[in-house]
Amino acid sequence: MNHINPNYHDLITCRDLVEAVTAYLEGALSPDERTRVAAHLAVCAQCVAYVEEMETTIRVAGRLRDRAIATGTEQALLRLFHDWRQDRPVG
Ligand SMILES: [Zn+2]
Repeated sequence: MNHINPNYHDLITCRDLVEAVTAYLEGALSPDERTRVAAHLAVCAQCVAYVEEMETTIRVAGRLRDRAIATGTEQALLRLFHDWRQDRPVG
């Protein structure tokens, strides 16, 4: 899509939006593409719902990454705790 059409009545389709949504949420679209996506979202409630769903998915995926880091820390702490117990005299 290299030709720039300033006439936004020539809107992108839902399919175009679905293909562009990741780049849109990452801010990776050109200003022209962003305008087209925004223009489509202004008239298509279905795609607004889809973008919101994608935003939630990306946010949840980010949280899962944080949890994975936290789990690694927890395992390190458990290992320290285990070593500490072994150092103590038994009985
Ligand atoms: Zn749509």
